[in-house]
Amino acid sequence: MRCILLILDGLGDRASAALSGRTPLEAARTPHLDRLAAMGMTGLLHPWRLGYALPSELAHFLLFGYSWAEFPGRGYLEALGAGIPLGPEEVALLGRIFAVRRRRGELILVEEDPRVEEETARTLLAAVGEFTAQGVEVSFIPTGGIRGIVRLRGEVSAAVTDSNPIYEGRPLMEVQPLEGHEGDVRARRTARVLNAYAAWSHARLAAHPLNRARRRAGLSPLNAVGLQRAGQWRPVRPFGEKWGLRALAVAAGILYQGLCRFLGFRMAPVQDTADPARDLAGRLRQAARARQYDFVYVHTKAPDEAAHTKDPDHKRAVIETLDAALAVALEEIVPDPETLLVITADHATPSAGPMIHSGEPVPLLLLGKYTWRDRVERFAEIDCAQGALGLVRGEELMPLILNFLDRGKLMGLRDSPRDQPYFPGNYRSLRLGRQQGGDDD
Ligand SMILES: [Zn+2]
Repeated sequence: MRCILLILDGLGDRASAALSGRTPLEAARTPHLDRLAAMGMTGLLHPWRLGYALPSELAHFLLFGYSWAEFPGRGYLEALGAGIPLGPEEVALLGRIFAVRRRRGELILVEEDPRVEEETARTLLAAVGEFTAQGVEVSFIPTGGIRGIVRLRGEVSAAVTDSNPIYEGRPLMEVQPLEGHEGDVRARRTARVLNAYAAWSHARLAAHPLNRARRRAGLSPLNAVGLQRAGQWRPVRPFGEKWGLRALAVAAGILYQGLCRFLGFRMAPVQDTADPARDLAGRLRQAARARQYDFVYVHTKAPDEAAHTKDPDHKRAVIETLDAALAVALEEIVPDPETLLVITADHATPSAGPMIHSGEPVPLLLLGKYTWRDRVERFAEIDCAQGALGLVRGEELMPLILNFLDRGKLMGLRDSPRDQPYFPGNYRSLRLGRQQGGDDD
């Protein structure tokens, strides 16, 4: 058997007054998702612990069965996904340029996501592209628009805080070593260099002719660099070895591609277009046909992006268009008894209020030849709360998948020195030659 896991990014949400107290998913007309829910086993899922708002990379990492302690940092994953060469000693951060104004020696964030033409962004990013201090080389490598990866080479550490305050009206933050790393020479040096880079890049950008022209045109200047989520390579057990499943990722976006590459997935080459429903239908079709894999991860970012516009009704409408793509699941995936279909979200993204993501659990659906058919007939938060699975935590998802794939090992069997939760696992066969030099029959 094989599993197709569909992650509808940021699908979960909160009750909204604009939707008469319903969530966007509850308010949406979703006949295909509802049919799947009626046929399968449902519940709620939180990748970690209730109440904690998780970013996508961490939520995915936990859902794939890894622990917080193994996480390399989003900066590293995006660098990997963007194809930026990064040595094991080097550090990568997410960088962007944005608008600040000076107030009593502080730089107050005015606009975190200013609109800018590609050419202007490229020129300004090039002006702050290379900086060296205390033996550390800082490179801002653009990945699109005002964004990029800031790579640090030298005796550096990823154990530092962010400088981007994210919320407008707040001052840029001083970079500091993380708790427990105050005495770490590398972390202290990294913090000093990044603070020097912040001051240098602000001076350079503020004086740039393009920014003077933007000011004259009544536009906000792109006059500071914000950094966050430093990351660095670390060893990790590949997904295939950890779960005994050959895995394929059908996901666009450098973050998801970087994460899956880090975990050793094979990658299907896909890109986002202006039509997310068509993209999703195509990805599900690709997954249905990828029979040489035991685990196919399919992703769409559309619900999360819709929620970030902070318009619950827009999110409802996007969910409705995505639902049409689920016809592919009903026609090409569900009829195959050897496929387990799992549909869920990585986290909730609230389409109202100031939080970026939120900590409610999200709907979960498993549908395969062994899954129970519970009494839930709609794929939505409150309905799935009545489902047979109850509340599932991230660390339980992969074992549940192995279970319904008929691959779960009886725990306690010792077939290898390092426990492998799947069956049949890899093990070393007894070789008579090694023990006593016997002859083969
Ligand atoms: Zn989001």
